[in-house]
Amino acid sequence: MSINRRSFGLLTLLIVFSATLLPFDLAQAESVKAVKAARLYDGTGADPITNAVVVIEGNMIKAVGSADKVAIPEGAEVIDMGDSTLMPGLFDTHGHLRYRYAGGGHHGRVAQATGEHGALGMRMVKNSRTQLLSGVTTMRMTGEVGGLDFDMKHAIESGMVPGPRIIPSGRLISSTGGHGAYEPESQVDGPWDVVKRVRENFSQGAKLIKFSMVDLSPDAAQMTLEEIKAGVQAAKSAGIPTTVHCTGNWGSCIRQSVKAGVDTIEHARPLTPEIIRLLKRNGTSLSLTPLVYIGFRPDASWWEYLDSSVSKPEDWILFMRGKMTSWRVAHPEWENEPRPYADNESGRAKRDYFPAVKQRQQEVFDTYKAGIPIGIGLDTIYGGVTLSMEWMVEAGIPLKEVIHMATGSAAKISKVDDRWGTLEKGKYADLITVKGDPVSDILNLHKIELVIKDGQRVDTLTWN
Ligand SMILES: [Zn+2]
Repeated sequence: MSINRRSFGLLTLLIVFSATLLPFDLAQAESVKAVKAARLYDGTGADPITNAVVVIEGNMIKAVGSADKVAIPEGAEVIDMGDSTLMPGLFDTHGHLRYRYAGGGHHGRVAQATGEHGALGMRMVKNSRTQLLSGVTTMRMTGEVGGLDFDMKHAIESGMVPGPRIIPSGRLISSTGGHGAYEPESQVDGPWDVVKRVRENFSQGAKLIKFSMVDLSPDAAQMTLEEIKAGVQAAKSAGIPTTVHCTGNWGSCIRQSVKAGVDTIEHARPLTPEIIRLLKRNGTSLSLTPLVYIGFRPDASWWEYLDSSVSKPEDWILFMRGKMTSWRVAHPEWENEPRPYADNESGRAKRDYFPAVKQRQQEVFDTYKAGIPIGIGLDTIYGGVTLSMEWMVEAGIPLKEVIHMATGSAAKISKVDDRWGTLEKGKYADLITVKGDPVSDILNLHKIELVIKDGQRVDTLTWN
């Protein structure tokens, strides 16, 4: 009895203590930051707000607006970025972290794609760091081998490896000899085997299903309508979105994928007026990859530079920009003439092509004008989101809409817009700043300064 009474007393004491300690502990746990900058794009496509502030509590956005309307809480850590531009953390809607292209055409790619998993994983660690430090806070990994995208997701979430938030798709799903057949584990034939693969990917943790095919003829693609339909249905039943690599001379992949009810199309060639109308009618969205359309590819010197000489985002992004610009200057014919897809993967050169850069920019502009939701993907040019955005601006799309494509719209097509993609009260705190005003000088877009992911500053990390 006396023991009981004493325990009761101790308990009361503890309760009293914790009650007085609780508010203090909470204040410690939920650090409050206020980020100020000369202008802010919220990622919805709206006009910028001038003299802006974002209040972050823990990992959540508590307030966004002009400084005369938003009160900065007492005791908040104020990060004043001065004449900079705030925007949401960038999305990469199409990525493969395991690659480091270094020439070799199709065979080079096969070697890159299917190397020993330990080596692929090490590349992924560096490439994901490059993405994060270049402002990418969320990425869709569109087809990986050996469950490496799940491993990366876990490593990043546990804090072991710096990187963007990962939306993994597990193994690519393609047909025997189809696009992606260089990864033997991606080849699946027949509707029921496609269904089985979707279920396997889902049970391993896929948050997205990625199919892959190229046009075969004016009315056939590498996967049949039955196969893709069965796969889409299985993914829908599991509640996860679907996307398809669709390229080719005729648009048969796109027509078939839209018919099967996929959510997004990757790359999307061609984008004729007929295809644009079809996408619009069916509410299908696009994950576009501008840097791939240009036709230049990294070589070994890129990676040497990245690993030895980069100490801030603009070093890397402006290096890539220099490579890209000199490539375009050296290949004026690519600006104005279409060309066959050169690497001849399963006779692809006869069935797939690159439109001229100018023509492609016109098609993408028309697609944007038609109101098709667009996200921006990099494929393997890590950290190149702002370069892709510059390509979109060059195509005639207003900057605020291009920022929307790289943030709010990308989040929407990835079906995570309830949590990320815009700077709004109640969203998770992912944001970046770039130096100065990108409207007066587009180069400012590449000068990424602050990177906050999930309420934490990550731009303070070193590049190596
Ligand atoms: Zn890809």
